[in-house]
Amino acid sequence: MNILIIGSGGREYVFTEKIAASKECEKLFVAPGNAGTSKIAENINLSPTDFKGIADFSLKNNIEMIVVGPEAPLVEGIRDYFEAEESLREIQIVGPGKAGAELEGSKEFAKSFMQRHNIPTAAYSTFNKASLAEGLNYLQTLKPPYVLKADGLAGGKGVVICENLKTAEQSLTEMLKDEKFGAASEKVVIEEFLSGIELSVFVLTDGENYKVLPAAKDYKRIGEGDTGLNTGGMGAVSPVKFADATFMEKVESKIIKPTVDGLKKDKIDYQGFIFIGLMNVGGEPYVIEYNVRMGDPETQVVLPRLKSDLLSIFKSMKTKSLKNEEFVISDQTASTIVLVAGGYPESYEKGKVIKGLEDVENAKVFHAGTTLKDNEIITAGGRVLAITGMGDNLEVALKNAYAGANKVCWDDMYYRKDIGQDLLALSGQ
Ligand code: AMP
Repeated sequence: MNILIIGSGGREYVFTEKIAASKECEKLFVAPGNAGTSKIAENINLSPTDFKGIADFSLKNNIEMIVVGPEAPLVEGIRDYFEAEESLREIQIVGPGKAGAELEGSKEFAKSFMQRHNIPTAAYSTFNKASLAEGLNYLQTLKPPYVLKADGLAGGKGVVICENLKTAEQSLTEMLKDEKFGAASEKVVIEEFLSGIELSVFVLTDGENYKVLPAAKDYKRIGEGDTGLNTGGMGAVSPVKFADATFMEKVESKIIKPTVDGLKKDKIDYQGFIFIGLMNVGGEPYVIEYNVRMGDPETQVVLPRLKSDLLSIFKSMKTKSLKNEEFVISDQTASTIVLVAGGYPESYEKGKVIKGLEDVENAKVFHAGTTLKDNEIITAGGRVLAITGMGDNLEVALKNAYAGANKVCWDDMYYRKDIGQDLLALSGQ
């Protein structure tokens, strides 16, 4: 089987490695990929949203399956593009169509979906430019902190949490009147602040049935102790001990099942990952957000624990026979440390030579923002590598990941030294 993976980050590197390991994989391509994927598969210089380029390449190379890593091509309708064309219809897309991708593409859509299907989430209201005055009044009815969300995709930056009413009023005005996030903030969801511990739950569905993958916790802020600016993610851990069996049963009955059933009721034929960002509020799960793809860097701790053949699992989705697939999950703990360019998530330099990769032992190196130049691996993005360590418990997994991270260096490399420490303190693992 010939397969094309869309994307270039650490998440797509993990997909590449997993799929390449399957017996059924013949030719594997990644568009556009990174230095790491070029060693396992063939990188193709195509943008993830160049649907025509992807279609032409797929036909020429007898691609039978396209695995979509990031959200943008899903929200822009890559699946619909392929379904609309007779010659492309047989190519399986792993990822939902445009209607399902609205769960991530529009916060308002996601909130009304949850309300319609009785899925626990924070109380909310939506406003636009014309209803700014109502929005300002609504803020006065809430208690601080205030949560303001740009409706559309804003590169992970569209959520603003304000400590007091004055900054909330200012932010709402900036978002609606001054279009701070462009078209993404034409509408703004204002919602109740939920206080608790966050975790991410991953589900794979073929539209009929679903399987739950291991849960993970990620670390979004750039600074230690969860301080500073938000990033794409600085590290992750799986499993999450506080998500015990009782909690996960609630997640399944109150959130996962109603979500999959809700999609069916709404006549949305959803095939792909559903990534549910949750808040554990005193033992009760609430949905913070839906994403319509795997997380990055959560993939770097979730998929290394999956022992089953990922390609066979993906294939079963086309015939809606996912329920017959075995999901064998390792008991081991996985932790990943993201190595970033100094200055990230603000401005940073690229093109630095990465050293020490071959010295990493007992840990996996997942490439993200890397490229090849004159046979050397150089930095090509903000998040450059993720180093995943596994172990019988969190302490060992962290020790392996950090020992690996310590072997790698480039000019200006930075990583957080406190990944997983909060969980160690919490459970005394
Ligand atoms: P989102 O992009 O919706 O995941 O939001 C980004 C981050 O904002 C989340 O990971 C949470 O830490 C925080 N957040 C979002 N919504 C809420 C809420 N209702 N209450 C508390 N924190 C929130």
